[in-house]
Order: sequence, then C-alpha cells, then structure tokens
Amino acid sequence: MHDLHIHTHHSCDSKTSLDSYCKKAVELGLEYICFTDHIDFNKADYGYGYYDASLFFKEFNPLKEKYVDNLTLLCGVEFSEPHVYPKEFEMYQKMPYDFILGSIHFWVDDLFPTKMKKSNISAKTAFNRYWQEVYAAVSFGGFDSLAHFDFPKRYYGELLYSEKSIISVCKKMIRNNIAMEINTSTLRQGLDCSMPDKALLDIYKQAGGRYVTFGSDAHSVQELGAGYQHARSLISGNLQNVIYVQRRPIKCSLM
Ligand SMILES: [Zn+2]
Ligand SMILES: [Zn+2]
Repeated sequence: MHDLHIHTHHSCDSKTSLDSYCKKAVELGLEYICFTDHIDFNKADYGYGYYDASLFFKEFNPLKEKYVDNLTLLCGVEFSEPHVYPKEFEMYQKMPYDFILGSIHFWVDDLFPTKMKKSNISAKTAFNRYWQEVYAAVSFGGFDSLAHFDFPKRYYGELLYSEKSIISVCKKMIRNNIAMEINTSTLRQGLDCSMPDKALLDIYKQAGGRYVTFGSDAHSVQELGAGYQHARSLISGNLQNVIYVQRRPIKCSLM
C-alpha cells in the first residue's frame, strides 16, 4: 500500500508536518509515501508564492534517513497548470523530485471552480473548457501523472464529457508518458466515486493507457491512504499501478 498525493504544512491548505505523516504511514503499514505540496503560480490562488523548496528539503532529507528501515519516503510536487507557467515549471523539473503531479485548478476566466459556481458558470461550460485546458496541459507534458482527472466533478457533483475528447486527452497522455492518477478525495466529500472512476478509466484503457498512480490527496494524517481499496478495485486488465522514483515508473504488486 502506498500514497502518492499528500499535502503537508508546505502547502497553504494543510497544517500537517512531514513527520506526523511518516508515523501514521508506519502505523498503517504503508510501503511508500510521496509528499506532493502545491506549487501555484496563479496570482488568484491563495497558495501563490507559499511553497519554499529549500525549507521542504531541509525537513524531508533527515526524515528520509530516519525512516529508511520502515518506509520509503519520496518527494514530489503538485504543480498547477504547468503549460501556463513553462519557465517556472522548468525550474522545478530541475530539482531532485521523485514525482511531479500536474493539475488544473484554474480555468474559465481564471477562476477556481467554487468561484465559477458563484458566478453562475454552468457545469456544461465548466467541463467543456476544463477538457480543453487538460488537453493543453498534457500536450505540453513534462510531468509524471495527471492529478484528479475529472476535477470539476468534485464541485459540480456531476460528470460531463464527450468520449471523443477524453480519447484525445488519453492518447496525448500516453504519448507524453503521463500516468493517470486515481484520486480518492471525492469519496470523503460526499460523492461515491473517485476521480476518475470506472467509466473514464475504461476509456483510458481503450485508448491504450496502462499506468495509474494512487493518491488520497490527504491534507491531514487521518486522510493518509484513504480510499486505497476503492482505487485498487478499479485496477483491472492491462492497468498497472505504479510509483515513481527519481521520475521513473516502478510497477507495484497489488495487495
Ligand atoms: Zn489538486
Ligand atoms: Zn492535491
């Protein structure tokens, strides 16, 4: 068992220390955990300018040693809209991370989905523009896994897509070596499905997709590893559950 999407107090929206996640991971018997704090260059994001890589590594490096016998600690980031901030993204690609998640948090007039809803932007518009933005991000590439594939679902509570657009997104991901994350945060937020769930994973599989990563999107220790069994149940056929070490995929055996 592992978790490759975890936020610590190096993210603006979490207060949890790295060490407390490590203790919990040992307690739960996790083999690998990867910290993926937010990196946001959108000035409308309250996390803009919050992350400090040197402070992160100062805390991370001694812990990696401390837990070496019980747990493999991996370091990563969740970089928002890499295609919009190519110069900034390049800076982080050069740092010694094991894993880079790419995500789309802002689109449609540069808004976060909670603001889109307040501005009466319909689910149809939000999803249409979202899939265009995702296509641009995966075409740009340079990251290892795409976080929370059908993200607007978390806020709109419904899922809209055309099969054709999902196939083009998946084909670009495969060509650019981008894995599909199964993000289970929606299971804690009142929905009965992960992001993505079976229907979109089936399209990913049909398009030739193979690699999936698991992420709880934990912001506190209670959320570490949450939803792993649900994610596990979605992995079938040719799908391979992978972790990333030094930006290379390593296959995991499924429990
Ligand atoms: Zn995210
Ligand atoms: Zn996240």
